[in-house]
Amino acid sequence: MTRIWLSQPDVGPLEREALVAAFDSGWIAPNGPDLDAFESEVSALTGWPGAVAVASGTAGLHLALGSVGVGRGDIVLASTFTFVASVNAITYCGATPVFVDSETASWNMSPALLDAAARRLHRAGTPAKAVVVVDLYGQCADMDAITAVCREHNLALVEDAAEAVGARYKNRPAGTLGDIGVFSFNGNKILTTSGGGMVLTPELSTATSIRYLATQARQPTVHYEHTDIGFNYRMSNLLAAVGRAQLQRLPQMMKRRHEINARYRRALAPETGITFMPVPEWSSWNGWLTCVVFDDVDHRQRVMAELAAHDIESRPLWKPMHRQPVYSGCQAELDGTSDDLFARGLCLPSSSALSDDDVDTVISQVLACPR
Ligand SMILES: *Cc1c(COP(=O)(O)O)cnc(C)c1O
Repeated sequence: MTRIWLSQPDVGPLEREALVAAFDSGWIAPNGPDLDAFESEVSALTGWPGAVAVASGTAGLHLALGSVGVGRGDIVLASTFTFVASVNAITYCGATPVFVDSETASWNMSPALLDAAARRLHRAGTPAKAVVVVDLYGQCADMDAITAVCREHNLALVEDAAEAVGARYKNRPAGTLGDIGVFSFNGNKILTTSGGGMVLTPELSTATSIRYLATQARQPTVHYEHTDIGFNYRMSNLLAAVGRAQLQRLPQMMKRRHEINARYRRALAPETGITFMPVPEWSSWNGWLTCVVFDDVDHRQRVMAELAAHDIESRPLWKPMHRQPVYSGCQAELDGTSDDLFARGLCLPSSSALSDDDVDTVISQVLACPR
């Protein structure tokens, strides 16, 4: 029996051929036609003209924060229920995160708690500069409500759509819901280039300056002339070729993730003590990971152990940032939602490369541990 992974890359002949063709074309050095085409195609997918392919989602977040003016000494409000990269990018800028808890409707940042945190910081004489909102597990946050809070408090809004490629909010594409957005194409994401990311912006001039900073801030001279500190954050042309092949298959990969989710939902009815991530009416999620919550913490532990014993990967939901030792000193606006999700939640294997038999194997092991 081979191990069943949580979210392994779903790649095949199409990606392999694209990669080899890019290699044979001689465009090995970072720039090249596939890189340009990949940017145009992602731009077409989202409807925003600016798209800059970068080495990782984390690098993209770093550039995005810089682009909205976040710098040393600033305070940035951030979703506490997320992967650490969302917050590390704030730290790279020399800024300080203040964490905001989730709401139960989408598991994403609570607009009410965001408002409370912004007010509290204002009263303390330390107003925030920006917000990093995360679209977790391929589902958008309640962006209209969050945007309203940002307008009121004059906060720039960075959308960490790393997990949300292909998702929509009120029929608007993830990645285009804030002032600037970021996708990840890491190996575990719904669309992968093995490693990579994309910064999305409505302004071509912003894309140009981000592309400049991502390529060591080189001035257009023959010798190397620098007037800014840049980064080596560009995606390689070879990986962009893989991304283009994946993009063609995105609708199919999303469909398969949704089928897997539906299969779990049919088998794990509420009377099993298991409930699924809620999907509010404004959300059209991409199906990235099937996430469940157990009525009982001990039940979750037993299921995790049972799956591990059968060589099936599962993981608790993200450990909130306010619980991370490295961020223990930070302020936070909390109501217990993300702590509860972390205590009782579990991600189940959801890769679009899984067969129905694989999913049924997972289901039978889950059902083998009644509550
Ligand atoms: C994966 C991820 C990132 C980072 O993307 P990388 O491409 O791995 O650097 C950032 N934020 C969230 C929410 C993620 O899941």
